[in-house]
Amino acid sequence: MKYYDKLIFELSKPGRCGYSLPVSPWNTTADALPEGLRRTAAAELPEVSELDVVRHYTNLSNMNFGVDTGFYPLGSCTMKYNPKINEEMASLACFKDIHPLQPESTVQGVLELYYNLERSLSAITGMANFTLNPFAGAQGELTGLMVIRRYHELRGDMKRTKIIVPDSAHGTNPASAAVCGLDVVEVKSKPDGRIDIESLRPLLDDTIAGIMMTNPNTLGLFESEIKEIAKLVHDCGGLLYYDGANFNPLLGMVRPGDMGFDVLHLNLHKTFSTPHGGGGPGAGPVGVAAHLADCLPNPRVVLGADGKYQLLTSETSCGRVSGFMGNFGVLIRAYTYILSLGKENIRMAGPLAVLNANYIKESLKDCYKLPIDMTCMHEFVFDGLLDKSTGITTLDVAKRLLDYGFHAPTIYFPLLFHQAIMIEPTETESKETLDGFIEVMRRIAEEAIANPEELHSAPHNTPVRRLDETTAAKNPILTYRESLCKK
Ligand SMILES: *Cc1c(COP(=O)(O)O)cnc(C)c1O
Repeated sequence: MKYYDKLIFELSKPGRCGYSLPVSPWNTTADALPEGLRRTAAAELPEVSELDVVRHYTNLSNMNFGVDTGFYPLGSCTMKYNPKINEEMASLACFKDIHPLQPESTVQGVLELYYNLERSLSAITGMANFTLNPFAGAQGELTGLMVIRRYHELRGDMKRTKIIVPDSAHGTNPASAAVCGLDVVEVKSKPDGRIDIESLRPLLDDTIAGIMMTNPNTLGLFESEIKEIAKLVHDCGGLLYYDGANFNPLLGMVRPGDMGFDVLHLNLHKTFSTPHGGGGPGAGPVGVAAHLADCLPNPRVVLGADGKYQLLTSETSCGRVSGFMGNFGVLIRAYTYILSLGKENIRMAGPLAVLNANYIKESLKDCYKLPIDMTCMHEFVFDGLLDKSTGITTLDVAKRLLDYGFHAPTIYFPLLFHQAIMIEPTETESKETLDGFIEVMRRIAEEAIANPEELHSAPHNTPVRRLDETTAAKNPILTYRESLCKK
């Protein structure tokens, strides 16, 4: 092990300094702050030199794994490559140096970008209008459900307090529904992974606000009976919510608006190639059909008759969901992605993502258990190794992949199988990378028989080895200060 491979966080030495703040041109005299808000003692900050800080973060970043360093087949997360031109556009001074409280007349170009992105997403999904204000997919879900609740409220239809969520749904769906104050009713999947219409039928009555669906669902399968489901839900007065976090396979091919969905969210940080991981920043725009446009959150960007963009707030809105207008840097990146591909090329992303997923699935299904053997969309799920006699678990396979330089797939999700391994390669990977991954997955299946101990104790060559996840969860160390950590 090299010296810098050790994780040393306590670097502070009294008196060391790496930076001094410039003299502010504004009034910073102490009496600018009211008495009670002023600090009485200096803040306890680490005292480190510039070189210490640079080395600390550079070495930390070398221990990290990102889509720029290697293949990242994390199912349901769409870790596609983020083209560098997105970054270039987001760092243009005209975008990054503005202030959210500037008068509208001085940020017309910014509002135009917001408006154009809204129009592009509407065209791509078949919805009438969008809000780009939510900061994440889960917040998009909450916003969409607030829109649905507001819609029923405005019609005086107050009985509708239940929302139907399939058992295969992403965990955020029931969580968002609960935060929105709706009661979650679960609908079962059939053995082929799709919603069981016969289980759905008896749930539909005048207390149903709507249904949340993911299509393709979290098993990567397209809900082929979606038209029938839409009709049943609409006939009972409910609305259809579409979780479009993983919109990749449908890009330019099929539109949720045409399938009958009333509300949806997209994850710009997945499908529209903006960086994510580590918790943000993201963007979860929400699109709605025309009859719900008045319920979208405040404020909305509209184009006035005078050709000027304005911020509109309305009484019928479901309220505000963000301080300003969302994560604008993410919006710039997504808009750049859409414009650089263009209408003609964006429709190639979906089929390529589907082809790549099916290529891996077919190449590995003789060593890994494929519980639902059919053509998948952008991702698919194995249920561990085919040969269960070796005692090798999905966790062992995932940890061993790290030794070979690949990020692990999503594991133990969805909950429908005990040893789930969910793989999503995305369209941005080359055949050579996919072949390399397939070769390693096959080698791990051989190791499971020949040398199971090697897998149980993996990973062997990462900066930290297999972690004690229970202790990490029960006894988290949340400060760099050794003296404050519980031993
Ligand atoms: C990622 C994901 C979400 C949540 O998105 P966040 O931006 O992480 O909040 C919701 N639903 C599905 C299907 C997802 O894959």
